[in-house]
Formats: sequence, structure tokens, C-alpha cells
Amino acid sequence: MPSHMHPISIAAKRAAARLTDVLWPGRSLVSGEPARGALSAEDFAALTFLTGPACQSCARPQEVDLGAAAMCAACLTRPPIWTRAHAALAYDEVSRVPVLGLKRAGRRDGLKVMANWMVAAGRESLERADVIVPVPLHYFRLVRRGYNQSGWLASAIGAQAGVRVDHGLVNRVRATPSQAGLSPRARHRNVRGAFGVSKRAEQRVAGKSVVLVDDVLTTGATLKAASRALLNAGAAEVNVLVLARVVKPDDIAI
Ligand SMILES: [Zn+2]
Repeated sequence: MPSHMHPISIAAKRAAARLTDVLWPGRSLVSGEPARGALSAEDFAALTFLTGPACQSCARPQEVDLGAAAMCAACLTRPPIWTRAHAALAYDEVSRVPVLGLKRAGRRDGLKVMANWMVAAGRESLERADVIVPVPLHYFRLVRRGYNQSGWLASAIGAQAGVRVDHGLVNRVRATPSQAGLSPRARHRNVRGAFGVSKRAEQRVAGKSVVLVDDVLTTGATLKAASRALLNAGAAEVNVLVLARVVKPDDIAI
């Protein structure tokens, strides 16, 4: 570890991130306008919640409800390596504001309500879960940013659902360039083998039902690579839970 990456700088950035709670007093998560809570009634109505029929494997909304075991055509052709996926929101021009507020601006004041939506969306997976694991950032990115938004979501979900959260179960073993702007194929190549479970952590995952938490499911490349590391380490199953899911290819550029 280079000396300038001392853990104290993470602590300092965390303190700065907590400051954003003060810097964003009573502003709507969506419009940024002053609001009593995190969302006004209009904001709430503008968000697209994925509560309708969806593919059980990738959470893609489906036109027709084929029942609880339904899979979309893409998943029937090539099933994901995780078991189930659940998403609270469609990732679109409305939800990108709170999602990016969390991811890029470290805005924490919406965490509780976001976790609420995710607990509702992922109830089926959370009920059988032994442990919740966030998709980790590489250490250097964590130091630069000072926080991991997926870790924040995982903690908030764990607190609400009463499930243990293990932030260090899966790690980034390789730093990767940002996925933004890459083609779906390049995204998969970019993160392949980027995650690992340490020998010491293997006993914490062996035989366990894991809920893997991330902010956005785009192509699923990152979640696939992290799931593979958990399954290789002996997880009984991995179920994916995200705040928002890209539904239209146009919204992929995050
Ligand atoms: Zn699917």
C-alpha cells in the first residue's frame, strides 16, 4: 500500500461524505427542490417501480405474467450464473438523478427509502439469505471516492431485513477501468476475473445463500463476475438485488 493511501484518508472522506447529509437538507432526491421528505408525491409518481411481471432470473419487466418461475427469452437461451435477480426501479431519466446522487455525489439521505424499496423488491431472496454482500470497489477507487454506494445500500438493507452484511466477503482483486461507455462485450471482458474471495473468507461463504447488492444492473457483467467469485468459493446460491435496472438499451451509458 503506498504511504499516501493511508486508511486515515478513507476515514476523512467518510466524514466528508457524512457532511453531505447536512449539505442536502430536505431536498427532493429527484428534482433537487426543497421538500419535506426525500421525495414529493410528484417525484414518487415519476419513478418507474418494477412491481409488475418480470423475469425471475434477470428482473427484466415482462409484458405477460408467466408466473413466479418465468424466464425471459434471453435467460432461457443463456441463463445467468446467479439464481434470481430483483430490481426496485427502472433506470431511466428520472431515477438516474437519485442513483447518480448516491453514486457520484455521496448523497446518503435517500438510503433508507431506497433500501425500503429494495427490501420489498427482493423479499423472496432476503427471506432465505444467510448473508448480504455488496459489490465492492477496488481499494484505490474506494480511497479516491471515500465510500462505496453499494456498501451503503447493503448496510441499509441488512438493517431493515435483519440479515447479516459482510462487506469484505468478495474483493476486487484487479482494478478495472470504469464500465461507462464500453460495449456490452467489452464490459464483460473488462471485469472478468476482477473479483475474488480470499482463502480466509471461504469458510464464511461455503454453503451460504448470498444476496449480492449493487446500485444498477446494466449488462450484468459486474454482477456476473462477482457472482462467479462467490460461487467458486462455495456459495450455495447467489441472488442479485439492485436499486435500478436498465430496461431500455438507450439508458446503458452509466
Ligand atoms: Zn431474464
